[in-house]
Order: sequence, then C-alpha cells, then structure tokens
Amino acid sequence: MVREPVQRLAYAVIVAAGSGRRCPGSQTKQFLDLCGQPLYLWSVQTFQQCPEIAGIVIVGPKHNYQALLEMQQETAIFDKVMKVVAGGESRTESVSNGVSALAAADNDIHKSDPILIHDGVRPLVTTELIINVAKQVGPKQVAIPTTTPTATVKKIVGNTITETIAREQLGLAQTPQGVPYELLCEALKHWRQNPATPITDEGALIENLPPNKRAEVTILNVPGEPYNLKITFPEDLRQAEAILLRETNNAIAFKPRQATGFGYDVHAFAASRKLILGGIEISGHPGLAGHSDADVLIHALVDALLGAVGAGDIGQHFPDHDPAFKNRSSLYFLERALTIVKKRGFKLEAADITIVAEQPKLAPHIPAMLTMLKKTIASPCQLNIKATTSEGLGFTGRREGIAAYAVATVIAD
Ligand code: MG
Repeated sequence: MVREPVQRLAYAVIVAAGSGRRCPGSQTKQFLDLCGQPLYLWSVQTFQQCPEIAGIVIVGPKHNYQALLEMQQETAIFDKVMKVVAGGESRTESVSNGVSALAAADNDIHKSDPILIHDGVRPLVTTELIINVAKQVGPKQVAIPTTTPTATVKKIVGNTITETIAREQLGLAQTPQGVPYELLCEALKHWRQNPATPITDEGALIENLPPNKRAEVTILNVPGEPYNLKITFPEDLRQAEAILLRETNNAIAFKPRQATGFGYDVHAFAASRKLILGGIEISGHPGLAGHSDADVLIHALVDALLGAVGAGDIGQHFPDHDPAFKNRSSLYFLERALTIVKKRGFKLEAADITIVAEQPKLAPHIPAMLTMLKKTIASPCQLNIKATTSEGLGFTGRREGIAAYAVATVIAD
C-alpha cells in the first residue's frame, strides 16, 4: 500500500525584539497592553492554537534580561513555545538568532519545513493566514502575504510629485512570511557576509541572494489580511483594540473596568526557619517550609493580584525550582505582581486577607504587616488583614501549618 506522505508541520519565529522608537512613551511597544495582555502575546496565542504549527521560538529584546524572563514566564503555558531568545542589533540578526535557537531546540527539523517569521507587533494575525502561508512554502518557494494599497500612490522627489504609480502592481508586505528551513539558513548565511545590507523582511532577504540562487526561488504572493496591522504608532494600538473587541464580540478580548482576584496558599511549619508573615519577622516561633521565605500571606495576596488581572498564578511567574527565588523575600514577588497589574492597565484598589493559624497569636503583628505591605504597594489602597484560628480542626488546627486567603480588587488605571 502506498501511503500518502505526511504533511510536515511548520515552525514559527516570532520577532518581538524591537525597541519601538516610534511609539512614544514606551521603549518596547511589543509589551504594551492590548485588551488585558501584552501585545506580542496575542500572536503567540494564535500560533499556539494553529494546528499546522509544530513549535514556536520567540525572539525578545537584546540586553534586556528582565524582559526575556518575563516573556518566558508569560509564555510558559504555551506548550509549543520551545524557546525565548535574545534578539540582535537588526531585525535580520534577531531572525537569525531565532532560527539558530529553533535548530538547536528541535533536531527533527527538516530542510523543507516551512519557517514562518512573524512580527510580534502584528497581534491580529489569524490562523487562516498562518495556514495559507505555511501551505504555499515549498523547497524552492517562499510565501509572502501582501495587501494592495487602497490609496493612489505617488512617486515623490524632493517636494515634487513626479509620477503616479500603478498600485495594482504594488503590495504592502505583511507577516508571517514563510521560507523553507534550508533556504532560510542559506539566505541568512549570505546576508552575514555583508550584514550592513538593509533587510526589512524575509522577502528582501531572499532577493538579496546571489542572482543564480535567487533565480531558483519563487516568491509567491499570498493575499494578506486588512486587519493584520503592524502596531507602530499609539493610534494603531487603539485601532487594534477596537478591532479585537468588535471582531471577537468581546468573547476573547475583554477588559473589565474593575476586577477581583482570589488567592489561597498553605505552608507547613519548619522548625529551622524564621517565621515571616506579611513581610515582617515574627520571632519566638518556628517558621514555614518553602523555596522562598514562605510568606504564605503575601503568596495568597500575589495570587489574588495575578488573578484579578487574568495573569495566571504565582508558580507560573516565580517557579519554586528557580534558584533566583531561593530564600527570596516574598515582598519581591509582591512588587513584581504589582508591576504586572500596572502593565495590564490596572491599579490595586482594595485587598482583604485572612490568615488561619492556631499559633502564634498574630493580631499584635497586624499593624506592622499593614505598614510593610503599604510601603511596598506605595500607592493609596484599602488594605485589611484578619487573623483567625480553625478552632482546633484540620491541619491548621493540628498546628501543622498556616493557611492564607486573599481577595484583591483592581480598577482600570
Ligand atoms: Mg506559597
């Protein structure tokens, strides 16, 4: 029996390495909030959902370890994301870093597998376009989506219009642009011999091949999508937001004006550790076991904050296997959670925390905890901490550990 050849899947390299110099007020536009999540995450999500995609590499900014770490955390829930790597000085160098990381992460990659390079600042790409581009890529065929300019296009020399250009022959290039793996490697290798050559997309990268190689390759035009905007200016972001809210009928993109999150955490007692609760040390009592300082109260509050802005949970952002967080003060997690809240366009309005412990007596320590937390939060909000016992029942009643519950309400900033 002759089997149908199995259709190879495509890989995506999402480039979110830019410095966003044209979008005032932010150094890195790919991280601007769009309907409750960072801009670049929208396209990561779409590639993740696309059945034709086997794996994704994300290229983040160069010289920005913190941003890369955050991107890693934000994309940890997507199983197709193979790697988050730092970009380079130019777009092409960033693409090159992404392709190298892809090859290193997947040794099953085949020379004709489509590699789709996508701009992280095109959040409205659809799975239909991704599939259309991927299926047009062949061993010697590249696929580039374009749209036809809707306005009449003029040629301008100095301050004079010299010519009206037939727009039927023009195309505005979009991404994703699909190139077979081997050809992409070859084109990147050729570009590296003269990296000063200005290359703005993969189409231009292929055009830059030596003439004999270029002649072997067809660059196929694929119909692009009018909504596949490239976010360059602040107005673009507002337009993308309007499209998302309208097109998805608020089912996917919804940004509440106010939201409440809930958090719960438990830590067992550990005789050898200091007891840290609400950011303060309570002496004369065994502490709690944990990777960080095990401040169960702050952990519950952090989960409530992350929950309120739809940003997952504490384990996702601060994994307990990460040596960076070993014995770390949980006030650091609180600061980071508040930064996430702010980035998503919200501020903490009120939080209420209940701590359940049979011992020690916590009421006398609550004022100091409130002071410490308010100092960390550093913006006006209502904060309340309550301490209770569980009347001798359950694990807290048996004095095995401490539990904490928190709710946090955030409002649009
Ligand atoms: Mg915890």
